Amino acid sequence: MDFPLYKEWMGESNTLTDVYVKGVSEFMKYAKKNVQSERIACPCTQCRNGKRLELDDVELHLLRWGMWVNYKVWNFHGEREVPFVLE
Ligand SMILES: [Zn+2]
Repeated sequence: MDFPLYKEWMGESNTLTDVYVKGVSEFMKYAKKNVQSERIACPCTQCRNGKRLELDDVELHLLRWGMWVNYKVWNFHGEREVPFVLE
C-alpha cells in the first residue's frame, strides 16, 4: 500500500453517516485482500478483535456497534506499519 489508509471515519460517533458507511466498506475491502481467511477478527466496539467472525458478520457488527476507535493500526488485518496517525 503506497497511500495512507483512510481512517478518519473511525472517529464518527454516528454510524449512519455516509462517511462511516463508506469507511466500513473500505475497511472490508482491505481486510478481504489482506486476510486470506473466511473469518477475520472483528474490530467492532463489542468484539475488539477478540472474536473471529465471517466477513458479512463483521460488516454487520461494524455498522451496528461501530468501529473500535482505539484500533488505530490494523495489524489484525494486514497492516504492518504506522503510516497514518489518527488525531
Ligand atoms: Zn464484532
